[in-house]
Amino acid sequence: MAEPAASKQTSALMAPETAERLFRYLVDAVKDYAIFLLTPEGLIASWNAGAQHIKGYQPEEIIGEHFRIFYTEKDKLAKKPEAELQIALQTGEFKEEGWRVRKDGSRFWASVLLTPIRDEHGRVLGFGKITRDLSERRAAEARYRLLIEGVTDYAIYSLDPQGNITSWNSGAQRIKGYTLNEIIGKNFSLFYTPEDREMGIPQQVLETARELGHFAGEGWRMRKDGSRFWASVVVTAMRDEEGTVTGFSKVTRDVTERQIMLEKIHEHSRELEVQMAAREQSNAELEAFAYSVSHDLRAPLRAIAGFGDALKEEYAAKLDPNGNDYLNEILDATRRMNALVQDLLEYGRVSRINIPLEPVSVGDAVHEALKRVGDRQNLTVDVTPDLKAYGHLPTLTQVIINLVDNAFKFHETGAIPKVHVRAEDKGDRVRVSVQDNGIGIAPAHQERIFQVFERLHEREKYSGTGIGLAIVKRGVTRMNGKFGLQSEPGKGSTFWFELPKPK
Ligand code: ADP
Repeated sequence: MAEPAASKQTSALMAPETAERLFRYLVDAVKDYAIFLLTPEGLIASWNAGAQHIKGYQPEEIIGEHFRIFYTEKDKLAKKPEAELQIALQTGEFKEEGWRVRKDGSRFWASVLLTPIRDEHGRVLGFGKITRDLSERRAAEARYRLLIEGVTDYAIYSLDPQGNITSWNSGAQRIKGYTLNEIIGKNFSLFYTPEDREMGIPQQVLETARELGHFAGEGWRMRKDGSRFWASVVVTAMRDEEGTVTGFSKVTRDVTERQIMLEKIHEHSRELEVQMAAREQSNAELEAFAYSVSHDLRAPLRAIAGFGDALKEEYAAKLDPNGNDYLNEILDATRRMNALVQDLLEYGRVSRINIPLEPVSVGDAVHEALKRVGDRQNLTVDVTPDLKAYGHLPTLTQVIINLVDNAFKFHETGAIPKVHVRAEDKGDRVRVSVQDNGIGIAPAHQERIFQVFERLHEREKYSGTGIGLAIVKRGVTRMNGKFGLQSEPGKGSTFWFELPKPK
């Protein structure tokens, strides 16, 4: 009891009578709490300002009345006031929240504490009663409940500390299919799939919320009819002032549509991958076909060229000038076709042969390439000594040959070609570049010239098959390298490629 405790503590500082008087003033002045005394029979013996304010009675009209006057008719009939006195006597106090009635008949939601007061021999002198008007709070709670109840897009419900359902909104009913009456008291693990339940997921969710304050996640859940939906879930632990978990609130959203969309996207990209693989496969088949056709073309081609040459040698004198012109055209076309077949075979070879990678000397590759290109004027070479790349020597040599060939070829008539070949150490890579002072290439064409048969000029102006750079691209890629160029029309070009260095 507050009174003896207060007088005990103040006794050292002030006379007990003074303390008691002060205490009475305090009780009298308190407005927010009705504080009053009851006789052992339950008759009202004192009345403070708070009691007057909350219940509406003046002291003179209420003192001496039985306190049942504050109860609803129903509670009076059930003898609730008398029962409360009994409970207070037996257990030391009676505490509850419930409806009480004001003088004007209106109800208010009261928080009540009833305590028996005994003398030093344990005889009951009466009861102290403290009542608070919680109507405001209750109204706010009711508004909040109404709000939650009205939400239909979200399942919002609460759980006790064991995960048993204690409240259920209309969204929960809509999403999960259970009515309030069916679900209250059931454990929330009901919503999980049997697999998840077996793995103890529901318990883990509550454990996480308990430890971290909340849990957020997504997963399959079950509706009442057994159908599944993809749920986005947030579970929040609710605690009292002491920090003990009193339950959980749970908000669940049905995001199945989003999930289905995501899965469709995944499926689509998987299909694309399959299509890509199929395309690569058919590309490879086409290349193999081109390779064998080129291969088979060589024999008849050799025959045409051979008999053409023989014809020219033995019969040129017997043909008139027109006949000789035709014959020369045939021989010329044969040479071009031979070059095409050779290049196609080379392209097929670089694409399909096994390319075992090993440390190779870049200097060796450059010198072999230049030897095969033949003597050229204005060719300078800069190769860092002992430079090694992780590559395939024949392929590396072929790539350099093609670049140097082009560098000497693409010039305006009458211009003097100058070509510079470099091989440099770039840390973990080797960079080989071939620089010329030729006609250059507009940026718009720089990508496509690496495709098979892509040429930017008439055959009459620059001879060629359009396969050389395709071989460069395939060869460098197969050696795990990169390639590119810097060029501007009229300002020359620098083609480069880089290969990894041996570890
Ligand atoms: P080809 O040399 O047989 O025509 P490539 O595949 O080697 O075929 O080259 C493709 C096209 O790229 C060439 O036809 C040319 O238009 C352009 N090209 C290649 N190298 C150079 C260069 N060094 N300078 C200017 N244009 C070039």
